[in-house]
Amino acid sequence: MTQPVPAVPFRHAVVTGGAGFLGSHLCERLLATGTRVTCMDDLSTSDGGNVAHLRDDPCFAFVRHDVSTPFTTSDDVDLVLHLASPASPADYLRLPVETLRVGSAGTGHALEAARRTGARMVLASTSETYGDPQVHPQPESYWGHVNPVGPRGVYDEAKRFGEALTTAYRSAYGVDTAIVRIFNTYGPRMRRDDGRAIPTFIAQALTGQPMTVAGDGSQTRSVCYVDDTVRGILAVAASALPGPFNVGLPEERSVLDIAHAVAAVVGVAPQVEYVGRPVDDPSVRCPDITAIRTRLGWEPEVELAEGLARAVDWFRTTAPGAGHSGGG
Ligand code: NAD
Repeated sequence: MTQPVPAVPFRHAVVTGGAGFLGSHLCERLLATGTRVTCMDDLSTSDGGNVAHLRDDPCFAFVRHDVSTPFTTSDDVDLVLHLASPASPADYLRLPVETLRVGSAGTGHALEAARRTGARMVLASTSETYGDPQVHPQPESYWGHVNPVGPRGVYDEAKRFGEALTTAYRSAYGVDTAIVRIFNTYGPRMRRDDGRAIPTFIAQALTGQPMTVAGDGSQTRSVCYVDDTVRGILAVAASALPGPFNVGLPEERSVLDIAHAVAAVVGVAPQVEYVGRPVDDPSVRCPDITAIRTRLGWEPEVELAEGLARAVDWFRTTAPGAGHSGGG
């Protein structure tokens, strides 16, 4: 049975990073539920194409701004969704200092905006806060296993700092905050050159190239379809709960299995080329979603084959380079 998208009881949302992969789906969903949306984005890892179709909507405004520098919002804002951050490894390795700035100063500015207007503030955190986990699957109570001086540290530690700052604003200033730890999400509007497994495999399979699998492909991931992730984020936003809440599909697959599933959906024989594993690449990754399931009734419903079919369909019908962004 299809779960309803939660009623979103907000007048006016600011979505930082709203022109990105997840942000654009959230803007669309908020507009559909009658919320005015201000999308604030510096277009550092997207190009505006994801929200081009929203620009004529009188309830939608786009503001080009780097949220690592202070910003103001109108007084009627009652929701700040803070998604701005490079999210794919290719992006945050290229933008290491910017990633730390937006996770620290940027999160501070989003919290200040919420403090000033009395809005609820939701931080888009990540499963990467668990690092290369030693507890499996990962419940929210697990503190993680992160190398702060490894290449991925810029992203993982930025998000961990963002979580600490969000928690401090809640306890010190009474700001109404929530934290969602998003696990790998895929779907339409990811960039082909994003560097992450699913868009890379799809782009390769569609063009008859071998799929580049890192290591021996036995490392696991759990991948959630974008509509489910968006519904989970909005369920947390619409609640009064602080979290953190894991949002992800609690089904683990090896990366090699995911490559085979992509080939099956594209309709080609799986051809694989094995390449080196990135430094500090997590060996396993799977969310424990007991908390969000029992407290908010959320769980993903799109199965991998169905989600991949929708994503492949979008990649097939969208010219390379058009409609952009994704990662995390
Ligand atoms: P994305 O790269 O598609 O979107 C991020 C957006 O933020 C881009 O439009 C980019 O231009 C914007 N941005 C970056 N720095 C900014 C700044 N300083 N000021 C204003 N805008 C800025 O990535 P995404 O996959 O949509 O991820 C969105 C958020 O969700 C990120 O915070 C990411 O960490 C988190 N997340 C995503 C996933 C995933 O699987 N997609 C998983 C875990 C967490």
